[in-house]
Amino acid sequence: MSNENCLFCKILAGDIPADVVYESDSAIAFRDINPQAPTHVVIIPRKHIATINDIDPDDQQVVGSLFTAAREIARTEGHAEAGYRVAMNCNESAGQTVFHIHLHLLGGRSFSWPPG
Ligand code: 5GP
Ligand code: ZN
Repeated sequence: MSNENCLFCKILAGDIPADVVYESDSAIAFRDINPQAPTHVVIIPRKHIATINDIDPDDQQVVGSLFTAAREIARTEGHAEAGYRVAMNCNESAGQTVFHIHLHLLGGRSFSWPPG
């Protein structure tokens, strides 16, 4: 299930420390090491899935749980009413650098559209 070369699997295993803000049976979330907003949390499945392209139909519950986590974290961080951004990058053109899918949750400022 886990990938020994994957940074986020190492965080899941506790081999690399992280500021964890949320945990469920299928997902965990921690603060991004290079925050792009006052709140920048990375939400990941416990299951190693490299990219959106690698999501299996059986993963629907796992992937859905990332949004359940986003909803909860947005509420606890105080951004639910004002609004916030969630984003998931896939492969090179979108700037994916860690190949274990993750939802970015950004809050605490305004976000332009379209994104850069
Ligand atoms: P991506 O570019 O793949 O969409 O997002 C990867 C994110 O992981 C980046 O925002 C980056 O700052 C974050 N990141 C990379 N290494 C670490 C780390 O060791 N700890 C934490 N908490 N975040 C990391
Ligand atoms: Zn992984």
